[in-house]
Parts: sequence; structure tokens; C-alpha cells
Amino acid sequence: MRIDVVTIFPEYLAPLELSLVGKAHRAGLLDLRVHDLRTWTTDRHRTVDDTPIGGGAGMVMRPDVWGEALDGLLGDDGAVELLVPTPSGERFTQRTAERLAAVPRLVVACGRYEGIDARVAEHYRARGVPVTEVSLGDYVLNGGEVAALVVVEAVARLLPGVVGNPDSLVEESHGAAGLLEYPVYTRPPQWRGHDVPEVLLSGHHARIARWRRDRALERTAERRPDLVARLPADALDADDRRL
Ligand code: SAM
Repeated sequence: MRIDVVTIFPEYLAPLELSLVGKAHRAGLLDLRVHDLRTWTTDRHRTVDDTPIGGGAGMVMRPDVWGEALDGLLGDDGAVELLVPTPSGERFTQRTAERLAAVPRLVVACGRYEGIDARVAEHYRARGVPVTEVSLGDYVLNGGEVAALVVVEAVARLLPGVVGNPDSLVEESHGAAGLLEYPVYTRPPQWRGHDVPEVLLSGHHARIARWRRDRALERTAERRPDLVARLPADALDADDRRL
């Protein structure tokens, strides 16, 4: 998969060279390219913004500069998806990450100031480019770079070979079961008066699986009742229902 990120702060994306995503990049599992939007400016001051038409505070990113940047990166065969982080977009979830992990090429356009001129998304949609405006959550960040970091990491870890043991993707929170993950423990079995639950030391696989399922259900009901309400009718078996 190839991901291009366009930003006025390429340095902001430096953490993508670290850890699993950095390793995936170096191993050729993920072709990650970060571009400075100012490369596509034509004036002496390398201007990317202007005052909002209609008045108001702040500055808006110019469509002509974004157009120059995106024309080349998106091509015109509709094969490359454009992702625009914005607080007014659809919520970015694990389902979005799963969908994007199957896309061969993605371009992430990082807004700053009051955001990108609305005609940019409109123009590429009209040209047949799949455009998704995504929000990380109901709060406002200064720019799209943090959203790009989130999207690249969430998507990259789903690509084959990026996470060493693919089993660790199976039982995660927000996975296929629709539940939060059960609590996890490691050695030592006693720490500052807190004991690892006895059943996990039993070696009894079926009892461990049942205990984990129960804790996942309890935790989800307590912390995210909205997720329980969204479970399909057949998601709970008789043992689940006794909780
Ligand atoms: N005036 C805009 C509004 O109220 O919708 C906010 C612009 S924000 C200061 C600048 C940029 O940060 C946005 O263009 C977007 O790229 C990014 N951004 C801010 N909050 C975000 C969020 N919750 N999710 C995704 N991107 C966000």
C-alpha cells in the first residue's frame, strides 16, 4: 500500500519512521511519502492561505495550491482515495481503518488554519476521486497532521506482515466481536498486593477463554454501553446472557 501525506509541516510526521510503522516502511510493506505543500506554491512567500471570503476570523487554505499538489498525486483514474481530516467529517473508526487497509493508494491532505477551501473536496469528488472527510472525534486540533499519524498507524498495523503475530489483531478492542478487550496481565503474578486472577494461572484454556469473554462483556457494558447496544442479535450466547 502507498500513502502520501501532504502537509505544511512534514517534520510533524517524523514519528512514522519509528516502531512498527517505520519498520514496515523500511521493509517495503508500506510505501509512505510525506510532501511539503509549499513545494506547489509559485510566489516568493510560498503562500498557502488567504482570508475567508465572506469575512470572519482566521485564514483558509487556498484551493489553487491544493489543486496543484493533488492533481499529480491523485491521478485521474479514481484509483487513489483522498482522505481529508476535518472535525466536520465522519468519525474515524476501526471499520474505516479496515476499509482503508484494502485501498492500494491513499492521499491524506492535512488542513491548517480554518481548514481547506471547501471546493477542493467538491472538485475531486466531481472528478470521480473517492473522497472521505474524517474526524478523529468531537474536538478541534490545530491541524490534520495528528489525524494523519492516527490514520497511518491504524491502517498500517492491519497490513499483512506489519504486526509480527497476526493473532494479536484478532481479539482486540473494536474488532470483529464488537467488544472491548478483556484486562491483560504479565509477570510477576503478585505485584504490590495485586494478584493476577487465579484462573489465568490455571493453564485451563476453556476456563481462561470463558473468563476473558466475561470480563470483555462486563467491561464493555460498563464503559461503552453504546457498543453492547450495537451488537447483532446473535452475538451473545446463553453463557453470555447469564452475566
Ligand atoms: N474551523 C474548523 C472547524 O471548526 O471545523 C477547524 C479547523 S482546525 C483548527 C484545522 C485543521 O485541523 C482542520 O482542517 C483539520 O485538518 C484538522 N482537525 C482539527 N480537528 C480535527 C478532528 N477532530 N479530526 C480530524 N482533523 C481535525
